[in-house]
Parts: sequence; C-alpha cells; structure tokens
Amino acid sequence: MATRVLVIDDSKSYREQIVRALQDAQLFDDYCTANGGLKGFQFLTENKVDLIICDLVMPQIDGLKFLQLMKTRPDLGNIPVIILTVKADLKEKLEGLEQGASDYLTKPFDAAELVARVKIHLKMKKLQDELQSANEHFKQLSNIDPLTNLYNRRFFTEVIEAELHRSSRFRSYVSLLVVDIDHFKKVNDIYGHQAGDRVLSAVAEKLREGLRTYDIASRYGGEEFVLVLPNTPLDKAMEVAERLRKAVQSLSFLIPLDRVEVTVSIGLAAFPTQHVDCFNALFTRADAALYRAKQNGRNRVEAAAEDGPVFESEKDLAGSLRTVE
Ligand code: GH3
Ligand code: MG
Ligand code: MG
Repeated sequence: MATRVLVIDDSKSYREQIVRALQDAQLFDDYCTANGGLKGFQFLTENKVDLIICDLVMPQIDGLKFLQLMKTRPDLGNIPVIILTVKADLKEKLEGLEQGASDYLTKPFDAAELVARVKIHLKMKKLQDELQSANEHFKQLSNIDPLTNLYNRRFFTEVIEAELHRSSRFRSYVSLLVVDIDHFKKVNDIYGHQAGDRVLSAVAEKLREGLRTYDIASRYGGEEFVLVLPNTPLDKAMEVAERLRKAVQSLSFLIPLDRVEVTVSIGLAAFPTQHVDCFNALFTRADAALYRAKQNGRNRVEAAAEDGPVFESEKDLAGSLRTVE
C-alpha cells in the first residue's frame, strides 16, 4: 500500500526543505503538506497518513493544539508525530511528548538525522500495525466482536441454550435484556460512521461495566445488544436495566468540537414463565417489550408482563440443587 507523510508547518520554506530531505531518501510514495494545524487536522480526517512531521509554533492551531485534536480521535493514535521546533526549550519539548508526540527535532534540522528518525518511527509503526492486524484477525476467529469487545452473536447463540438448560436444572430464573441505542442513525448521519463506532464501543463498555462477571453481554446486531443475566428474576433484572439505562445516559462524547449524548431503550423478559419455555419465546417477549419502550418515548425500560412464577418456593429450589451431580 502507498505510504504517505504529512508535513505541517506555517513556513513554506521549511515545508519544502523537509519534503526534499524525505524525497531524497525515497521514504514515502506520497508527500503532503499543510499550512497550519487546522488544515493538517482536516487533511488527516480525510486521508490515510503514515507519519506526521509537525512544527510546534504556528499561529492559531499550534503543534500542541494539533496533538490535542488528534487525541479526540483514538483511531489516529497509531500515527507517529515528530515535532519540529526552533525552540530549544526543554519544557516545550516535554509537553509535546506528553501530548502524544513520538519524537522531536530542533530547527534548523540536519537532513540525515531527520531521515534516520523517520525510518525508526516508520519501522515501529509497521510492527505496531502488524500486531494490530494480527490481533484483529484473531478476534475475527474468536467469539469476540472486534468493535465492542463484547461476545458476538454466534457465541451468544451457542451459549444461550446451555444457559437456559442450566437454569431449568437449577430451577433459577434467567433474564434477557435487549438493548437498542435510540436514534443511532442520526449519530452516524450527523457525525459520521467513525464517530458512530466510537459511541457504539463506549455504550458497550458501559453495559459491560454494569454487569456481573458471569452475566453475558453480546452484540446481537448493529446497535443492538443482548444481555443474559443468569440467576436473576424479572424484578431484579428491571433494577439492573434501569441502572444500565442511566449509566448510558450519563455518557458524553466530544466528537471534535461538539458534545453528543446518547440513550438506550431496553426490553426484558425472564425464563422460565408459563409462556416462555425456550429461547425463541424469551427473545420474542423481550423484543416486544423493547418495541413498547420505543413506542413509549425511548430512553426507558419495559418488561414483559409476568405470568406468575414457575418455581413455587425456596424449598423447591433447594430440593433441586441437591439433585445436581
Ligand atoms: P431507534 O431509536 O428506533 O432504534 O432508531 P435508530 O436510528 O437507532 O434505528 P435504525 O435501525 O433506523 O438505525 C440503526 C443504525 O445503526 C443504522 C446503521 O447504519 C447503524 N449501525 C449499525 N451498525 C453500525 C456500526 O457498526 N457502526 C456504525 N457507526 N453504525 C452502525
Ligand atoms: Mg436504534
Ligand atoms: Mg436497532
């Protein structure tokens, strides 16, 4: 794949000197320049870049502000940034490194040193990219959804039957929560698909945080999650669902220069009840409750109507537990 460097400097002559040094060493296929931090950031949001060389002192969006803007986009986190500055001031350099720069060089720069440092950072980035794609490949093969790190639908459908079977054997209730992000299409339409992805993974993280370790959180479809709460009757699941709904509502995203809030609607049902004796029935009831939550205004929890308990007493429960091999 073609490699691209982005040189950001408010001085035309420096932009040209840097590009010439890199071209002489034939380090990239494509050499791009930007006059200032804002133009550089705009370019970055629209193009794939492998390495950035950025001046520190520039009018308006300077090098440090540019690094801060980059931080609002975790997907740009792997791109090495070498800061280049006339300032020999150690404090400024340290600040740049703290803001996420990979390295710095002082102007006037030595072309051979610039080339040597760029080579090191390209090599490190290549290794990092390889590691990341190996990781992603591994996730594809596994049970994990790569975007949200929750279990994927395939894994969910594998384990749910076993979970319901276990619940019948142990005579305990399992609750199922179907969670759907409200008006998510708007997030994509207004802020773009990448911002949508960030919101999705943050919502998933909030859901995961709010559950016990043996609960199962999965991404069932695009912006829909299914959560399985073993050993949890409907009234307790309702409390959990309310807590999760509030936790998501408290999230707030800075998607460059704008504050975005997001809510979820949740439908839940419990297994077993008189009408729910298999996964399909359970899912249908939870999904119908979700539909009602959407109809009733969104950002709310609705539970399937109770049909009365199937397990009659504590005695019943204890008796069955003793029979387990
Ligand atoms: P409602 O409140 O009725 O659920 O409205 P909604 O906009 O959330 O529902 P709708 O089903 O109309 O749109 C879901 C959107 O989710 C459309 C789709 O592009 C988006 N989506 C699905 N998967 C992904 C994904 O992986 N990433 C991003 N960014 N968007 C996704
Ligand atoms: Mg939705
Ligand atoms: Mg949906």
